[in-house]
Amino acid sequence: MTSKRTSVVQAGMGDDPAYKSVSPPIYLSSTYCYNTISQKGKYDYGRTANPNRNELSDTLAMLENGSSCVVTSSGMSAIDLVTNLFNADALFIAPHDCYAGTHRLLSHRAEQGRLKVKFIDFLNTKAVSDAFKEGPALIMLESPSNPLMRLVDISEICKLAKKAGALVAVDNTFLSPVRQRPLDLGADFSIHSTTKYLNGHSDVVGGAIISKNQEHGDQLTWWANCLGVTGSPFDSYMTLRGMRTLHSRMDNQETSAMRVAQFLHKHPKVFKVYYPGLPSDPGYNLCKKQQFGPGAMLSFEVIGGFNAAKKVIEGLKVFQLAPSLGGVESLISYPPTMTHGGISETARNDAGIKENLLRISIGLESPEDLIQDLSASFTLI
Ligand code: PLP
Repeated sequence: MTSKRTSVVQAGMGDDPAYKSVSPPIYLSSTYCYNTISQKGKYDYGRTANPNRNELSDTLAMLENGSSCVVTSSGMSAIDLVTNLFNADALFIAPHDCYAGTHRLLSHRAEQGRLKVKFIDFLNTKAVSDAFKEGPALIMLESPSNPLMRLVDISEICKLAKKAGALVAVDNTFLSPVRQRPLDLGADFSIHSTTKYLNGHSDVVGGAIISKNQEHGDQLTWWANCLGVTGSPFDSYMTLRGMRTLHSRMDNQETSAMRVAQFLHKHPKVFKVYYPGLPSDPGYNLCKKQQFGPGAMLSFEVIGGFNAAKKVIEGLKVFQLAPSLGGVESLISYPPTMTHGGISETARNDAGIKENLLRISIGLESPEDLIQDLSASFTLI
């Protein structure tokens, strides 16, 4: 059996029935001919299924050891999709410091009476045991969390969930399947914003949800078709194309991230670094236990509050100021007004997102250039 690394590089290659093209063709057609009025071929309508989307979903299921995968139009539609498996009285437990879009979606759905949600700090054992006493239907985890890189012990939470009869969904966006496989740790669903590391080139918005059990996968496939949230053929083609280099990109980006984290950790103008690859990080041991590496995302707090954070950003020349992550280019973002600008100040404070916090996504540039860029910018504060 070939390794996952080899399988993803070669996914769908050489299967072209028309011309034997090495790279798979794109099937943009929205519809497909029936053989007779009562007999359709493998495909009939693009919302329901498409060859490029199938190639991508098969590859993602293979990478995460899942039984099936649904490719969606965005990470948010993948997160929303899983909510359809539950009735309106189902209680969801989610991290208080989850991605702001997830927080917004769940809290607004709860306001509409479509589900119940409780946001808790998963590192607070009392909060976790209290939450389990309330009979949750779904536990949503994000590990590492955005933007503070806090790690949750996924297998411990999955054991508690199993006892309580709850399902577990893990947002695996920050690591990708090459650095963490939640289904192997006991989760029922692994969710991705494929916009990030999986596509890896900041030119597609997409999502995916991989199920451990086929029945859940079939239900999600049914809902995705019913709601019309499946990903486009072109985006699927691009994402699979990007994924062929996922292992190499992550290896390189992670090596650079470690160097940048070590530089920041020693810098006198940096108050704190959030990176589970550093022995000083509270997530260091858990990272070694449940991840295949710390990944390439990190956050840090500068000394000097908001003004210092603003000056550092304005001084950077190599890092681009943008909210996304996981691409080949290095990005910096200011969580209080960017990724987490849409949630209330109280929710932000509860999550520990301070005015001196900066988040960076390390890309494929030379690490020396990235360190030099940060170093020059720190001289401005
Ligand atoms: N989950 C996490 C952890 C994210 O960072 C994001 C987006 O930044 C999403 C989900 C939402 O994904 P998308 O923007 O593709 O809808």
